[in-house]
Amino acid sequence: MASITPHGSRAEAVEGPEFDALIIGAGFSGLYQLHCLRDRLGLSAQVLEAAEGVGGTWYWNRYPGARCDSESHSYSYYFSDELLQEWEWSERYPQQPEIMRYLNWVADRLDLKRDIRFGRRVVSARYQEATNRWIVEAETGERFQARFLVTAVGCLSSANIPKIPGLESFTGEWYHTGQWPHEGVDFTGKRVGQVGTGSTGIQAAPVIAESAKHLTVFQRTANYSVPARNGPLTPEFLRWSKENSAELRELMHSTPNGHPFAISERSALSVPPEERQAIYEQAWETGGLRFRAAFRDLLVDKAANDTAAEFIKAKIREVVKDPETAAKLANIDHPFAAKRPPIDTDYFETFNRDNVALVDVRAEPIEAIMPNGIRTSRAEYALDVIVFATGFDAMTGPLLGIDIRGRNALSLRDVWHAGPRTYLGLGVAGFPNLFTITGPGSPSVLCNMPVAIEQHVEWVTNCIAYMRKRGYERIEPSAESADRWVDHVNEAANATLLPQAKHSWYLGANVPGKPRVFMPYAGGMARYRKICNEVAAKGYEGFELRP
Ligand code: NAP
Repeated sequence: MASITPHGSRAEAVEGPEFDALIIGAGFSGLYQLHCLRDRLGLSAQVLEAAEGVGGTWYWNRYPGARCDSESHSYSYYFSDELLQEWEWSERYPQQPEIMRYLNWVADRLDLKRDIRFGRRVVSARYQEATNRWIVEAETGERFQARFLVTAVGCLSSANIPKIPGLESFTGEWYHTGQWPHEGVDFTGKRVGQVGTGSTGIQAAPVIAESAKHLTVFQRTANYSVPARNGPLTPEFLRWSKENSAELRELMHSTPNGHPFAISERSALSVPPEERQAIYEQAWETGGLRFRAAFRDLLVDKAANDTAAEFIKAKIREVVKDPETAAKLANIDHPFAAKRPPIDTDYFETFNRDNVALVDVRAEPIEAIMPNGIRTSRAEYALDVIVFATGFDAMTGPLLGIDIRGRNALSLRDVWHAGPRTYLGLGVAGFPNLFTITGPGSPSVLCNMPVAIEQHVEWVTNCIAYMRKRGYERIEPSAESADRWVDHVNEAANATLLPQAKHSWYLGANVPGKPRVFMPYAGGMARYRKICNEVAAKGYEGFELRP
């Protein structure tokens, strides 16, 4: 399977089997990247994957209630009409097991698994200038080498487990939602403490509350949430989405966030209050991330945003019967959608159950974990199980978890010590032939992920095809183009309300000591796609290409 080149056979003993390209990760990105490089370009390519199966983030995130917030018919590969026509989603939002079935089905349909090495957690990747090869080492001690290295490691795959003193003394069970046991967790008869109220916690709490004896939710930052309004998909909808897949693809490519709905052209401030209220009511009934699209200026104008924020806070007070709990839940300190907005099924309703309590850890910070529970500054909470829904060391975490070294043993950890620096979120100066799928500095998490992924994978594939055609062996962004891009990423973020959420993982604020830098590109997916296309059309402007 390895390329039989004179160089490869010479180096194989020391540096392991050689391929044209190595891809790290077998989630949505890695699978499609393998298909493109192997089946479209005819390269020898291998995926190295830590897990024992495909799925990426969905392989690990098996917590109760795990479901995608993108609507099923848009949370699919759109590169293949055959795949689109054959697969049938069952619900408006796909549940984790269904996404796993989908990705396994795609991997089997495209015969990808034979080129994926499972159980290989990559620990280091070293660029060797003399041979123009990346030497990649797995935790198993095995080495592999390739000219091109594509990281498809996901943005949300490095679990953030808070360092709370005493965790090791806890005599119950504890879990992080992003490292959930495959056999599941039985909460029956148990007193459960859940730390975290992001998208994950908001999905998990209602499901845990159904079987636990008691659930205590520890909330640090109160959060907005909009009802998902999940439900089965009708045969008519499935037929419609298949018949209109070309139009849907075009729509998703034309919007800033890659979702299959257009953003209204109205300003929230241009309509009278009664009309605005009616529009929000309708958006609340429709449910899902579409709520954000009710007005065009919710993410850029604080006064417009306030109208949405007030509407949701009023809904929380209406749903939650205990006024004190409602006040804690509605005490939200950031603009709506400035943190990634969750969508839910009965999250706020859950606090009306007799077996659920809310603890505001801003008012009473968690001080320690005791052998039998959690101690805050005010009380001790006896628990049998702790669920950390505490999120991820997002975007940079999965990349910096690998010791990546470019030219002259330059360490990515050093280059990014003050925050990530990329060109287009696709490449890093000093690291030739390294492509970072949905890397920091690209729209990634601000976009419906499969749309962002397909754009990146196709761009990388076209770039490698271009290099082969013109006889180039090395590509690397110039330091100047990376500097300019970092400035542009900051400028794009500052043109929105997003940086106003000071506790957001977009800024790295959820991980103590992480540099506060706004990581994704907030200029919108459609604009970003255009920029990337122009860069390619100008012979990969901003990159240095060498034979
Ligand atoms: P998250 O949004 O980072 O939320 C983590 C939660 O844990 C926050 O409430 C955070 O509080 C809290 N927390 C962290 N450390 C804490 C500590 N030491 N003490 C107390 N509370 C602490 O993580 P997430 O909910 O896993 O979601 C991450 C992202 O994954 C989402 O934004 C979304 O992009 C994606 N996701 C998507 C879906 C979906 O599509 N359905 C589902 C889940 C996740 P602070 O806010 O104060 O930091």
